[in-house]
Amino acid sequence: MVDLNMKVVRPVKMTPESRFRFKCHPGVPCFTECCGRTTIILTPYDILRLKGRLGIDSGDFLERYTRREEHEQSGLPLVIMDMPRYGGKCPFVRPVTGCLVYSDRPATCRYYPVGQGVLITEEGLDEFYFLVREPHCKGFEEQDEWNVETWRKDQGADYYDEMNREWKAMMLRRSSFGKPDITEREQDLFYMVMYDLDQFRRFIFKSRFLTIFQVDDDTQQRIWEDDLELLRFGYKYIKMVFKISDDKSLSLAPQEAVPAVT
Ligand code: SF4
Ligand code: SF4
Repeated sequence: MVDLNMKVVRPVKMTPESRFRFKCHPGVPCFTECCGRTTIILTPYDILRLKGRLGIDSGDFLERYTRREEHEQSGLPLVIMDMPRYGGKCPFVRPVTGCLVYSDRPATCRYYPVGQGVLITEEGLDEFYFLVREPHCKGFEEQDEWNVETWRKDQGADYYDEMNREWKAMMLRRSSFGKPDITEREQDLFYMVMYDLDQFRRFIFKSRFLTIFQVDDDTQQRIWEDDLELLRFGYKYIKMVFKISDDKSLSLAPQEAVPAVT
């Protein structure tokens, strides 16, 4: 999700079949110009991939490369790539070689120059698209032809969407009820579970969590070993704490009356 400058957005809602011509490659004169002076919101799956790519703890990643903000509509925390700290540029851009983390780049970078919007409807999420035509971007002068769907697949954005859908739905659902009440403690919990996965793992295994919640041995093993399993478990846990779902797969252990959330 780029903070879209509406002057450069073609004000036409694109469907998955909408066509455009575009190619980005190291030979374009504007190479890497789009990797700065923009706002990139990092999703939980973006962070999982980036911290894995860099081989660092999620806490270190968040501290070094991001800043935390509050999403105005939902009151939930957002993680933003902290470009101002790196002279207005993405910390992973290199002048000659381009993106240092290319195969693990965030969803927003995968979509560009397509911008993505999302609405919540009675049927679920309605994802739609815009073309972002920034004057410096020479990729539109190239001849490769795409539609939104072939672009998403080519860039691996379809898989990222799958991994991020529940997070988006949570943000939107909370936004749709006006400014909801949310305590600082709940915000911190959401931040840890969604973005600081290594801390969440420590929270599960080093606090009273497993005496409070019933988590079978097989699940414990999987979330100990695998970040993606941990993130999936985190979605369930957050939905339960925030009363977003009736999913009973995570339940209190016998004799525990009140779940501790921190
Ligand atoms: S501005 Fe456009 S063409 Fe230039 S590097 Fe960025 S995406 Fe590629
Ligand atoms: S992550 Fe890579 S593609 Fe995205 S802004 Fe940074 S350098 Fe550019």
